Formats: sequence, C-alpha cells, structure tokens
Amino acid sequence: MIKKPNARLHVYDLLAVDGGRPSIHIVQVQQSAHVQTVEFAATKFMISRSSSRLLATLRPCLKQCSYSPYQRYPSPVPVRPIFSLFQKSKPADRKPQETGPQLTQDNLFHPFSKSPFPPVRARGEAVKTLAPCPVCAASHNHVHAHTQSQPKLVRFECPHCGWPSHCSEEHWKEDTEHEKYCRRLREANEDEHDLRSGRRLREFELPGTQGYEEAISFANWDVFWYTRGFPSMDTERSRRHASKLLTYPITIGGALHQHSGLTTSNQRLTPEGSRSLAALRSTLHVEPGAPETEEATTGKPQVRIFILGARAESSLPPHVWEQLCMLFPSTHFHLFFIGPQVSLPKPPGTTTASSASSPSTTANTNTPESQPQQTSTEVKEQEKRTYVPNVYQPPTPAPIERHKRTRSSIERYGVPAYTVPYTPQLTITGMQANYADVHAQFQHTLDPYSDLFFLFSPGFGFPSLESTDENGESLLQIASPTEWGPVVPMLLASKCTVFVTGFSPADVERDVRSLSTAPNVAGEFEWVITPGPNTFGSEKWEIADFDPRVMVKTNWGIWAIRGKSRDIQEKSKIFSLFG
Ligand SMILES: [Zn+2]
Ligand SMILES: [Zn+2]
Repeated sequence: MIKKPNARLHVYDLLAVDGGRPSIHIVQVQQSAHVQTVEFAATKFMISRSSSRLLATLRPCLKQCSYSPYQRYPSPVPVRPIFSLFQKSKPADRKPQETGPQLTQDNLFHPFSKSPFPPVRARGEAVKTLAPCPVCAASHNHVHAHTQSQPKLVRFECPHCGWPSHCSEEHWKEDTEHEKYCRRLREANEDEHDLRSGRRLREFELPGTQGYEEAISFANWDVFWYTRGFPSMDTERSRRHASKLLTYPITIGGALHQHSGLTTSNQRLTPEGSRSLAALRSTLHVEPGAPETEEATTGKPQVRIFILGARAESSLPPHVWEQLCMLFPSTHFHLFFIGPQVSLPKPPGTTTASSASSPSTTANTNTPESQPQQTSTEVKEQEKRTYVPNVYQPPTPAPIERHKRTRSSIERYGVPAYTVPYTPQLTITGMQANYADVHAQFQHTLDPYSDLFFLFSPGFGFPSLESTDENGESLLQIASPTEWGPVVPMLLASKCTVFVTGFSPADVERDVRSLSTAPNVAGEFEWVITPGPNTFGSEKWEIADFDPRVMVKTNWGIWAIRGKSRDIQEKSKIFSLFG
C-alpha cells in the first residue's frame, strides 16, 4: 500500500495559514458577515486611495513570496540514488535560497521584524507600507468620511501573532476585533517559518504511480492522501502545506474522476452535467472491468485541459501536475496554460533557480517580455530583493525551470509559447496570450468528449481594470472586451465543459452573479456542477498584505457550466422514448 516516495523534495512557496473550514453551500452564503464587510471596506479603501491600481483582485497568488516553487531542499535522506546519478551535479553555491538558521518546531514564532529569514522581514515591511490601522480607519470612516486624510499605517506588531497590526500599541489595545484574526495570523506566521525551518518536509514527497487495483477515494483530502499513498499528514500544518501544493491538479482530478464526490445524489452534478462528465469519463477511463493501465492509452484521444488566465498554476513544477496523470493511468493529458500572465521557461542556458519576479512596489513595472532577457546578474539581484506584496494585480510568475525537452512553440502558435513532453502521459504547453487571440487555432478541433476548460479564480465579477461602459463605470471583467468578454461565449460555443473556481463564498457568488448580466453568456449556458465548496481547495488562509484582516483560500469553491445544447436535449428526449 505504501508507495515508494518520490525522491524529489520541493518547497512550494506558500503564504500562510488555516483556520475554520468554511463548509457552506454558496446558495445560502453565510460567510462571516464581518469578514465580508472587511473585504468590501478594504476594496473601497483602496479605490479611494489610489483609484484602480490598488484594486486588488484579491486573487491569491502563490508566487507572491520570494520562494521559488522549483527550489529543491536538499534531501536529507538519499532516496533512489541510482536516478540521482543522472542528475547534473549542482554547483557548490546552489544552496536553498533560504539559508537562515534551522528552526525547531517549538521555535517557529517570530514577530515579522525579528524573523531570522529576510523574506519574512521583507513581508512585514511590505505590510507596514500598505495596511491601514483598523482602529484609525474605523474612526476615519465615522468622522471624516469626506476628507482626503488617510488612516495611519500599521507600525506596531501584535505580540501574539507577530504581524504589524496597528499604528500604535494604544490602538492595538483598544481593538477588540483583532482577537478574531489573531489566531489565524499567528498560524500564518508559524507556517512561514516552518517552511523555511530546514526540517524535512515530508508533505512534499509525492507518491509514484497508483497500482491499478488500488481505488482512489475523493471523499476528502485525508482519504485521498491515504488511498494515494502519501506520507501521513500528522499535523494541521502539514495538511495546509500539502493542500496548497496540490490544490490545482487535484481540484481538476477530483472533479473529472469517475469517483468524484460531486454527484447527482448530493445535487452538485446536474442531470445535464452528468451527460457532459460521462462523455469526458468515457475518454478518461476504460471500459468497465478492463484494467486501467498505461497500455490502455493506445488508441484513445489525448485529453486536453485548457487552463485559461493561468498564473501561479502555470509555474507549478510539472511533477506536481503529474499527480493529476496518476489519477488516470490510461489517459494522455495535454495541459495548455493560456493567459497574459503565464510563466514561460527561463532562456536556454540558465539553470539556476531565480526567486520572485521583479519587485513591483510600483505596480506592474515588470513587463512579461523583460523577464526572459534577464542576465544572471539581474537574477542574482532579484534574489536579494525579497518580497513582492500581494496587493496589486499579481505579477507574472517568475520564469519556470527549463526541462531538457522544453522547446519553443512560438512558430506553432504565433505567440510566446513553449511545450514540454514531460512524460509519455503528460505534455505541457504554455502560451503567454489572451485566449481570444489563439482560439481560432483550436476552435474546429474542440471536442466535449476529450477537451475541457478550467478557470481558476477568473474574477468574472470583479470590475475591469481596463474597460469602462459609456458612463465611465468599470465594466465587470466578464463583460470587458479585453478580458473575459469575448472568451466565455467562445467556450460556450465549443460545448466543452467550463470549470471555474473561486477563493471564498463571496468570490464564487460574485462570479456566478456576473453570468446573469454578461452579454452572450446570460441564458446561453447550462449548469454542469452547481456552485459550492471544493473538497480539494487549499486549507491555507492567504492573507492580504494591504489588510491582514482579509483572508481567502485558493480554490475554496467550484462550479461548472457548458454552452446550451438544444440538440442534445432534444435527442435525449427522443432517446428516452426508447429507453
Ligand atoms: Zn491607529
Ligand atoms: Zn495578533
């Protein structure tokens, strides 16, 4: 049952923390009204402060702290030594970026300003330049709502959680609300230090292939990890780290698999949806009773997963995406990351892991094009700078590790692109482009039996940063001609299933509501999966630097739609006459 652990130890850059797990169906959204109010107030505050630049999408971005997702911790235990013979020896100076002291598990808490790790200190500094003191902010709202004056920024670090939380000790003492956040913030603080503590991070040791007689359960993370042969997750902290690392591939796998927990009996899957998923599953799996093995791949079409608007997910190392393939041993996947912020490989010849993308304390100064031309000194320079605040429209993730077989696909797709045939089962293509610009290349081959779309927190319902209506009001992103406006109708026309995630009940609700107002979307789709919680969301709270009271969870919720297909409905009525 226990599978040979994969030798690769990785740290995926992680912000922090868990907390109570929301488990409310979105249709009766009951998220703490208070948290929603704070989220709203924070957005309002930012708009008033500096118009649209600060209008964070709040989309949690894994690439925000300085950790490189590709960074490997030196394995303290030699596993699969034969394979390591084939790995290039690393230059002596290639140490993990975090070369701070080793921390024991009882010494994980440090106020940000006193952290032994520069990136944590840098994050504290970032918060201090961005977050308003909540006590000042409250009095400002009441007293001079109409004035230009701004609340003071946070300077004082709460001794219990270590986060800069208030302008002064007096306001910290005065604030009875902080208690509500303090425990989660403390957890976040400790998680940050744990990731850098130098301990062996067993939760990042991913299992190899699944024996075909061993069924995988998708009931929840715990049984999933158990039935897939992960090392046991003994602590909540391990669960948080592991769920954050795996949320993207396993959210997809958990929705597509024949043993998915999203079913018609729990009303997450609609009758129309079950037909769409049955079509996909006929390609993903084998005939009942036949062994689900790699040999069964022969003759089956590739399953193409188009991940649109990809950011952090495009910078996940391929071996993490391989975990998706291992759920479907007889399927060949081709993942397409498509979006203006897709991470591209480093230029040929650069092998060292770089850190965060260029710091953008003045918003999006790092143009995507500038990154591939970085010289190694620039890369080193960047490694020294430590933290990109997670406030602005998140920057494009840093260039990804180059694999031996990585090749450029610019000629094929006409946009900056690469393709990696990573394993016989997994090919990955990344394109830095708006989907609308490359749709024509796929339009005539899209097949609901083998193709699907995944949009991770697309922010349909957020105001566009670029487009306004005739009255000068921001359009919603789902209606914006430069964002999702032209894209969603294209996806619906393909009749392929479109899966969407959101980072909180409010976020899911906002996106779902936007569907009903969007031109060429409203009335043109059918539900496949009804909006609700996602079993394989990250269990970590992502904390906003512009206001540490704002916390969300990556892929908290999931839903799916597809273009209305009157033909199929009519046909099915006809078939039901015979059935
Ligand atoms: Zn204050
Ligand atoms: Zn605190």
